[in-house]
Order: sequence, then C-alpha cells, then structure tokens
Amino acid sequence: MEYKELVNAYEELESTSKRLHKTYIISELLKKTSTDHVEKVVLLLRGRVFASGDSQELGISNKLLLKSISIVSGSNISDLENLWREIGDLGLVTEKVFSSKSQSTLFKQTLDVSFVFDTLRKLAITQGQGSTDQKVKLVSSLLSSAEPKEAKYIVRTVLQDLRVGVAEGTLRDAIAWAYLTNPNYDENAHSISPDREEYNKILEVLQSAIDKTNDYGLIVKLAKKGLVELEKVKMILGQPIKVMLAQRSSLTTAFSSVGKPAAFEYKLDGFRLQVQKDDDEVKLFTRRLEDVTKQFPDIVEVVKKNVKAKNCILDCEAAGFNPITKKYTPFQSISQRIKRKHEVHNLIKKLPIEINVFDLLYLEGEEYINQPFSKRREKLSQIITQKERLIVLTKQIVTESEKEVEKFFQQSLNLGNEGLMAKSLSSTYKPGSRVGSMVKIKPHMDELDLVIVKAEWGTGKRSGWLTSFTVACGDRDSLFEIGKVGTGLKEKKEEGLSFEELTELLRPLISKQKGREIEVTPKIVVSLRFEEIQKSPSYSSGYALRFPRVIALREDKDLEDIATLKEVEDTYKQQ
Ligand code: ATP
Repeated sequence: MEYKELVNAYEELESTSKRLHKTYIISELLKKTSTDHVEKVVLLLRGRVFASGDSQELGISNKLLLKSISIVSGSNISDLENLWREIGDLGLVTEKVFSSKSQSTLFKQTLDVSFVFDTLRKLAITQGQGSTDQKVKLVSSLLSSAEPKEAKYIVRTVLQDLRVGVAEGTLRDAIAWAYLTNPNYDENAHSISPDREEYNKILEVLQSAIDKTNDYGLIVKLAKKGLVELEKVKMILGQPIKVMLAQRSSLTTAFSSVGKPAAFEYKLDGFRLQVQKDDDEVKLFTRRLEDVTKQFPDIVEVVKKNVKAKNCILDCEAAGFNPITKKYTPFQSISQRIKRKHEVHNLIKKLPIEINVFDLLYLEGEEYINQPFSKRREKLSQIITQKERLIVLTKQIVTESEKEVEKFFQQSLNLGNEGLMAKSLSSTYKPGSRVGSMVKIKPHMDELDLVIVKAEWGTGKRSGWLTSFTVACGDRDSLFEIGKVGTGLKEKKEEGLSFEELTELLRPLISKQKGREIEVTPKIVVSLRFEEIQKSPSYSSGYALRFPRVIALREDKDLEDIATLKEVEDTYKQQ
C-alpha cells in the first residue's frame, strides 16, 4: 500500500472529531489494506511502530529530527525552530517548507507503508557509536522521497505526536466494521443501525481478545480471518494484559455492589504493577502496559526468590516505604523510580518497594481470570512466600459486617493508605474493564485525573516556572477543557511535586507559545482534588472545577486513563 493512502486517511481523521465518522474512515482504509500491510497500518494509525508493552523506542531527539528536515528542505535549523514555536506543530512546519521548496525529484520514489514502517523501526535498533549520523540518514531517506503532506505525518510519527485522535475504542470498532459486521453507517446522519445484540457480542469478543494480548497487529490479522479466531485467543506470557479497574463506591454502598460477604483490602498508595514470571524470566508492566523490568531489578529478584510457580501472572500494588522507619510513603515519592532506567541501585536503597500481591491471572499455563476471586486469592496464598517489606499478600478481611468494614477503613487511613478496595468473592477478572465487582472506597471522592493542555509562565520570583495549568478531560479522540489550576504545587523540589518539576516535564512538550501562554502536547496527567464541579460556559467541557488543587503527578497514566466527559458529568450529578 502506498503511504499516500494512509496519509489521506490521517487527513480525513484530523478533520473530524466525530467518533463514528472516524470509525468509518478507518474501517474503509482497513478494507482496502492487504494482509501483508494490515498490521503495520493498524499501528501507524495510532502513530506507533511497536505494540504496547514493547519497550523499544525510536530514540531520536528533536535536534536530530530538525537536522534531517533541514538537510532535505535546505531550510536552516533556527528558521525551522522559529516556525515551530510560532505554528506549534513541526509536522505543519515541515509541510510548509517542503511545499515552498522545489525539491529535487531525481531520486524520488513512491513511499510505501512498509518502507516507512521498517525505516522507523530501524531507528530503534540503531544504537551506539555513529548512530546519530545513521539516524539522521534514515529520517532523511524517508523525507527525501516524501510529498509535503507525507513529510508532515512522518515528522509527527517520529515525534510521537500524530494529532489525528484515534482512541483505542475507535480503532476496535473500526476493526469490527471492516471485517466482522456491517453496522450500516449513515454518513449524513452520523448514525449506525446495527443489530444491537449481535453487534455488542462481536465487540465483546474483539475487546476481550485485545485485552488479553494488547497486540493490535495480531488482533487485526485474526479479525480478518473471522470471529471464531478471536474467540480462541488466549493470554500470551510475556505480553502485558490490561488490568481490571475499579468503580467508585462508599462505605454505605459497597456491599450493594460486591455482595455479602465480601473481601475488603487496604488500598495502598503505590502504583499498579503486573508481574509476569516465566521460569527464570520475570517481566514487569505498568497499568499503561509499559515494560518497566529494567527499572526494578530489586523486584525481579524478590519475585524469583519468593514466588513458587514455574509461570504465573500476578496483579500487584508496588508500595514505597521509608528505608529507616519502614513506614509506607505516598506514590509521589517513589514515582521517579518508574522512569529511571539507568544507575538504579542508589535509588533502590533510597526508595525501596514492597510488592503487595492482590490477584492472580495465570498460573502454570492456565488462565485464572474466569475463576472466582476467592479461588484466585487462595491460590495466591499457596504460591507466595510472604516477607514483610519485600513481598506480601494485600491485607484482607472477609466480612459481612458494616461495622467491621468501618473499623478496617479507619485502620487503613491511620496507616496512611488511600482507603479500601471492596471485592466480590465470586466475581471473575475482567481485563481492561472498570467493574462494579471491585470498588474503591476513599475519603475524598472529589478527585479526577486530568491532562494538562496549556500553561502560563509565572511572574516575579516565579518567572522561570510555569505556574498556572489548564487541564482537560476526555480521551484520545477529543479533549475538553475543564479548568485552571495553580495550587497544590510546591515552591521547593524537596517538598513534593514542585512548579520546577512540572515545568521541566512540560518544557519539551511545548507546542506553541504566545506571550506568557503556552500550549503543550497533552501527555502529562495529574490528579486534582476540588470542592465541587459547576456548570460553566468558560470551558469546552461545559464544566468548571471549584477550588482545584493538584495532589499528584500520575506518571503511571496516559490519555486513555484520564476522566472522560461522561465521568465528569456523573461526578457532577452525584454531588
Ligand atoms: P486511583 O487513582 O484511585 O488509584 P486508578 O484509576 O489508578 O485509581 P482504579 O482501578 O480506579 O485505578 O483503582 C484501583 C487502584 O488502586 C488500582 O489500579 C491499584 O493501583 C490500587 N490499589 C491499591 N491497593 C489495591 C488493592 N488491594 N486491590 C486492588 N487495587 C489496589
């Protein structure tokens, strides 16, 4: 397939925010795509060349990318940088300079999807001495054959900022439309009229296959063969599985969600970690399905020594503790460990971690997700050798007494935990779903995870820092602004999440600057606490947060994990 065809789809996708229309555009493209190309097209549609859980990175800096653009277009680097600041999108800048230059067409060849894909993958494996020159050569080789529009998307893909808005759900539906069902999309009315029951069943099978493998390349090939192939999909050890998420509840409503008796566990303030053991190999994944094995050699060792299973998949909360007092520390204080890949040994001593295992997904070659929770937990207790401050099962009680739950809740809070998790004893594990059979009970329900989309430079003694941040809810398809926040951040780094730290994280993401205001590529997720949600015409969501305050940087979350507009509406109605 010519890369041009994919680029045309990108252009169409960028021009609409309507989810059904996006689904239609992608499904039509997939229908035209040959089996050889379909895996690559599906990844490129979301601006990727590796499946989730694959830790390879393109590893090309903005500087090298600018150099490549400069070589091919003949524009000088500082001009390109200035234009980038002005326009806010290096893809558009490249399109512009390519259009205005009469490029040599001597060596021009038609760009093929495979060529683009394979060249981008080569960037990741080009490492070591001389690799910077080679990387520039690789990108230049793509750009020198590219039409202006093609160059725009190559640059955006390299920057990992595709800006065409394809959320995972949209891609899933498009795969279904292309190969598994015909939902009768009416382009004018933007509506579909499928046989609902059959349609939902198809989406369910497809979603389950996606959740188990997280490999769209594989899924799309199977979907092409038919639903039966998708029904056969099993978990693959080594590939991350989407975690099950919890709905919100309260002390008074928990039993009505999870039944009586139920299990109650401490909700620790750490980060979610999926541990996969396959003989001597241990892999660790975050809830974003990132492979973080390199960052935690300490955990790998602990698992090897204390998990008595040849192979298994464990769902855990990794909790940090103070090495001297042994008391748990908040997520914020250990979050830096998620990012640090090199020279981790000092950090391990400074910020040690205890693994709290709470669920079992796979054991000795068998899936456990369809077993009841009580059985999964029982199995866990047989395979884990518990060692305080290394690896333990989460503290749990099974009860039908509200009084006991209340006591347990207080106890958990007194220890500095976030609250409790309530879990139905009979329920199965649903990867990727936010379920009512596992609910969270926190003292503050007025919290949302949102992404930063804009910010403002401070003045006076805060003049080198970004000090006010506009946040948004939504998903990858579309984002809706919901308020500005500047409180909750610290002046000094040692005191917690500081203006300085957030500024450094946002600086490389700045896409546009006008006076003191900047726009950023939406990547940084923060948890906000607030007094209440109000209706407001000032923000595109139609809502505003009253007295918002940043309580944590969520390095473990990305755009797919922030509050959706529907969650904001629900929270508004519940108050
Ligand atoms: P939050 O922001 O409240 O931590 P979340 O969006 O990260 O929530 P949810 O599924 O909504 O995820 O809430 C459950 C989270 O709580 C899990 O993702 C996990 O990281 C954490 N957690 C802590 N202790 C437990 C436990 N005992 N059982 C399950 N999850 C736990």
